[in-house]
Amino acid sequence: MTTLRNLPSVEQILQTDAAAKLIARFGRPLMLTAIRFTLDEVRARFKSGEITALPLQDLILVQAEATLTAWTKPTLLPVINAAGVILHTNLGRAPLSAAAIRAMDEVSRGYSTLEYDIVKGMRGSRLIHAESLLQKLTGAEAALVVNNCASAVLLILSALANKKRVIISRSQLVEIGGGFRVPDVMKQSGAKLVEVGTTNKVRLADYQSAAEEPTALMMRVHRSNFKLVGFTEEPELKDIVNAAHQAGVPVVDDLGSGALYDTAKYGLAHEPTVQESMQAGADVIVFSGDKLLGGPQAGIIIGKADLIAKIKKHPLARAVRADKTCLAGLSATLLHYLKDEAEREVPIVKMMSLTLEQVRGRAEAWAAELGHGTVVAGESTVGGGSLPGESMPTFLLSLEVDSSERFLRALRKNNPPIIARTENDKILLDPRTVLPEQEDVLLAGLKNILKNI
Ligand SMILES: *Cc1c(COP(=O)(O)O)cnc(C)c1O
Repeated sequence: MTTLRNLPSVEQILQTDAAAKLIARFGRPLMLTAIRFTLDEVRARFKSGEITALPLQDLILVQAEATLTAWTKPTLLPVINAAGVILHTNLGRAPLSAAAIRAMDEVSRGYSTLEYDIVKGMRGSRLIHAESLLQKLTGAEAALVVNNCASAVLLILSALANKKRVIISRSQLVEIGGGFRVPDVMKQSGAKLVEVGTTNKVRLADYQSAAEEPTALMMRVHRSNFKLVGFTEEPELKDIVNAAHQAGVPVVDDLGSGALYDTAKYGLAHEPTVQESMQAGADVIVFSGDKLLGGPQAGIIIGKADLIAKIKKHPLARAVRADKTCLAGLSATLLHYLKDEAEREVPIVKMMSLTLEQVRGRAEAWAAELGHGTVVAGESTVGGGSLPGESMPTFLLSLEVDSSERFLRALRKNNPPIIARTENDKILLDPRTVLPEQEDVLLAGLKNILKNI
């Protein structure tokens, strides 16, 4: 009779040649864990009667290998974005420029001047990196880079308004996405929220009367992901700034997307720019590094020197600081803007600036290469919590398939996964968001799926 005693021991299995190969690939400790895991499973299935015969050593090793492969498979993988959403938050927002990638690679490889002053030969500050570029680009007196825009807002409010009043319009008490709600962040920072106006209308007088009591800040939050239309009214930033300054109160402007260029240039709505906020006189301006700027994840704070100095000194600044790869990648990205080469070098700006003819040309080339599909007019979107409801015309490769669900699944299973859209049971692929260097892999993947599905 078969009993569990017939099962090979861990030691016996480890002595085989096949086991030696797996140890070389995965290391001994993980291999031991996987063998024990596999044997435990076999015992459990045998006891429950699910299996009546015990597997041989070879089969146990095959199972252990499958387990090891599954355990060591990365979960964070590159994908091909053919969905036509330029700043897809779920797909990691902005792809980076070659120079930004190079800079991040270089500081990761070895030691760096992260906090070392090479001229004086002594300790320096990580806060200086990117600061002078931001000063030159925006004219701001000072700058600070932290982990992301959400932490930047929390830091600013904690440093400048703890236990003090912050005036904000009710129409700007927004949720940015991923549960980042302006009123909650205010509460977290210890600031006292003073809402003025109504959901659709706020007047300068609302700000002015609220500022009659001692107030730490007035705040404007850009409605990045929705539009307020119809019977609405809101003073311009420069008027809010004037009213605030008359009351001796500084203004913080949370721009979110933080474009350094005018998106209207690409046929999109105008998104407030960093330069406009500066011109309007905002005292502290905060925006994301990986939205319309097209850099790595970062929160960028610029503004008046005395306020930025206070923010830098707050203990939270250390908790939300940017790492060296972020500072290197962000500096390289900012340099593209300073050298006026963003359209050529920053991938997301390049995507926006593609002409319709260029996109059509690529879609037609794909159709010809595949011998499949038609080129149809469609729309790309910006996404990533910017330009709500805005889209730009594009051309798509449209594939007629039996089951769009099954085809999308096959696309996701491809290596690398391909993310596409579907409409009326057709598969739509937008060349705008596919990086040129991914085209060959994309077409190879598509050919393979079309052949096998
Ligand atoms: C996106 C956004 C944020 C959060 O930025 P992250 O970089 O994602 O942390 C904050 N405020 C506004 C207005 C935004 O649009």
